[in-house]
Amino acid sequence: MIPPLARRFVAGETAAEALEHTRQRNEEGIGVILNRLGEHYETRGPADAAATTYEGLVEEIAAADLRACVSVKPSQLGLSVSEDLFEQNLERVVAHAAPRDVFVWIDMEDHTTTDATLDAFERFARESDGGVGVCLQANLKRTPDDLERLAALPGTVRLVKGAYDPPPSIAHREKEAVNAAYREQLRYMFREFDDGVAVGSHDPEMIELAARLHEEYGTGYEVQMLMGVRDEAQRALTDDCPVWQYAPYGGEWLAYFYRRVAERKENALFALRALLS
Ligand code: FAD
Repeated sequence: MIPPLARRFVAGETAAEALEHTRQRNEEGIGVILNRLGEHYETRGPADAAATTYEGLVEEIAAADLRACVSVKPSQLGLSVSEDLFEQNLERVVAHAAPRDVFVWIDMEDHTTTDATLDAFERFARESDGGVGVCLQANLKRTPDDLERLAALPGTVRLVKGAYDPPPSIAHREKEAVNAAYREQLRYMFREFDDGVAVGSHDPEMIELAARLHEEYGTGYEVQMLMGVRDEAQRALTDDCPVWQYAPYGGEWLAYFYRRVAERKENALFALRALLS
């Protein structure tokens, strides 16, 4: 069982719990991006099993008519084994999701996976006619070129600051440099992307900038935040734009929970308070 402490960030161990969480967020006007936890699978078995799990999940989302989609990690679908396996498993998920109108996001992992992830996105964005989205990391120096490549494709891009730690030769490392890159790339997306922009950030400054760029260019946008982070703001923002919450679930919750606690002092204090009370 997931302790209450971790339950703030994780929607449960089972798909049933995650779908119940989705129902509750939908009642608040928030869409849910479901991710079955698990990554870096080094053999075919768990990668194939993850694809099967997502096939079942998109069926349940469609049957329950929930405002939900899925987000997969390339190394969860087999990229650490081979690019072929990743594409085969992604093909299974997309082939199941597209006819049911369930959108499929592809998370972006560390910089060694960017090319393979974008190649797969390009293929499936075309084949599903825009039923797939991909995440790009503003801290990578290559991202402006990647945005140019993706601007002409169907599908949606989620812009995040970047959760990994790439070497300085290929990435902005200072917080202010990452923020500047994010602002610049967001403006480019509002100017050049027809299918809308997904703002994957909790940063009030970036969310306000997106609202101003929407006024300026008329491009549609949505805000995406993680479950358990600025929950109040997520509810309040539904008055301004579509809001989607990224909600992970599954048995492999411990590492994800540690990441959330480690990344921010407030989260660590929350964990400490909960432990003491
Ligand atoms: P930060 O620079 O961390 O913080 C800026 C400001 O936001 C803070 O000053 C504060 O005002 C507010 N804020 C941030 N966190 C909190 C908090 N816990 N509580 C209260 N206020 C807070 N990264 C990847 O590399 N690949 C992915 O596929 C990926 N997918 C993501 C999907 C979603 C939906 C989201 C939201 C993030 C994703 N990330 C991904 C993580 C991302 O790269 C960042 O590491 C993470 O979002 C932190 O950056 P930030 O933009 O939220 O702002």
